[in-house]
Amino acid sequence: MAPITREVLRDYLHDALPDVELAAVERAVRASTEVRALLEEVMAQEDRGEHTVGAIWRRERVSCPTRDQLGGYVLEAGDPELLEYVRFHLEEIGCPYCQANLDDLKRLRQ
Ligand SMILES: [Zn+2]
Repeated sequence: MAPITREVLRDYLHDALPDVELAAVERAVRASTEVRALLEEVMAQEDRGEHTVGAIWRRERVSCPTRDQLGGYVLEAGDPELLEYVRFHLEEIGCPYCQANLDDLKRLRQ
C-alpha cells in the first residue's frame, strides 16, 4: 500500500479520495498512532486556513467506533490500540455523536 502522506490525509479530510483509498486510510488511522498524529497535524493546519474541516469530519462521522466498541471503552476492555483510537476519536476529534452515545452508555451502567 502507498504510504499515508499529508496530501493523502488532506484529501481524506476533504472527502476527495476514492472509496478504496478511503478504506485504506481509515484502517491506517485506526491501526497506527503515527498516522493519527499526522492526521492531527493536518487537521490543525487545515483548520487554520478554513474552519470547516473539523465540521466536515464530525458531520460525516467518518471513523465513528461502533456502540460495542464504545461500550468496551467505558469498561476499558478490549484491544488497547482500539481503546486508544476511541479515546482519540472522542477527545481529539471531539465527535459529539459518539460523546452522546458514550454518555448514554455510562448512564445505562449506573
Ligand atoms: Zn464519532
